Amino acid sequence: MKWEGQRESDNVDDLRGSGDGGGGAGFGGFGGRHIGIGAIVIALVGGWIFGINPLTILGLLSGGGVPVQHSAPAPHPGQPVQQSAAEEQKVRFVKTVLADTEDVWTAVFKERGGTYRDPRLVLFRGATSTACGRGDAATGPFYCPGDEKVYIDLSFYDLLRTKLGAPGDFAQAYVIAHEVGHHVQKLLGISDKVDAARRDSDKVRANALSVRLELQADCFAGLWANRANAMKNIIEAGDIDSALNAATQIGDDTLQRKASGTVQPDTFTHGSSAQRVHWFKQGYETGQIEQCDTFKAGAP
Ligand SMILES: [Zn+2]
Repeated sequence: MKWEGQRESDNVDDLRGSGDGGGGAGFGGFGGRHIGIGAIVIALVGGWIFGINPLTILGLLSGGGVPVQHSAPAPHPGQPVQQSAAEEQKVRFVKTVLADTEDVWTAVFKERGGTYRDPRLVLFRGATSTACGRGDAATGPFYCPGDEKVYIDLSFYDLLRTKLGAPGDFAQAYVIAHEVGHHVQKLLGISDKVDAARRDSDKVRANALSVRLELQADCFAGLWANRANAMKNIIEAGDIDSALNAATQIGDDTLQRKASGTVQPDTFTHGSSAQRVHWFKQGYETGQIEQCDTFKAGAP
């Protein structure tokens, strides 16, 4: 991806040095939307309970007994964060991709006679307070509709590359574009409608609605790739394959197969690998919001 030298967003809050990591009130009631590495989270919880390295359960570690750090340790409050040049490059990358999403969605909303409201993006370490409850890096990057912020712990990108098998900067950009897709759904009133429908549904139906919402965020990520490339010529050879591979690796069936060896479609919340690939491609090939109706009857 050609991104260096492009505009960087000002809408980034850097809380990496705030010392808000770790501990906290736990899982109850977190209302954010994330990229969907849920099977890993379930394995993590089970793993900690039984004292087993969770990534061993997932079969994602080749060697035995290597401790895996899921997120950077929280620094002491008030102490400046030690930034490596590599980490600072990641920060510039995130700011640049966020700026690309701002430019694309501002244009798309304008075409439709509307006005796009930029989300903010929060960089954090470990855990952080959000309007949706306590957000944890273990769930991967997430969007909170309550405060219209995207939250990212940069260590997720190491997990994405190494343990989830999705290397490449365009895979990282896809993750940001997916979360911004949830912000677009909030602005369009789609997530509120889906949340209301989910509350009136049984578990299986609620999961199916969640899948439709997530697949639409993937389609919006593809739309972003199309439009950002048209505006700024950012895509290089291999980039789209890198995003499609990421979509494949974080499909619910692929994650469940890795975690337990079995697949239970009724429990999917983000969609299968094939569905996630389909909808990213649909957005990428058309660049049109109308082509991202994942809720219509018979949609794949
Ligand atoms: Zn999502």
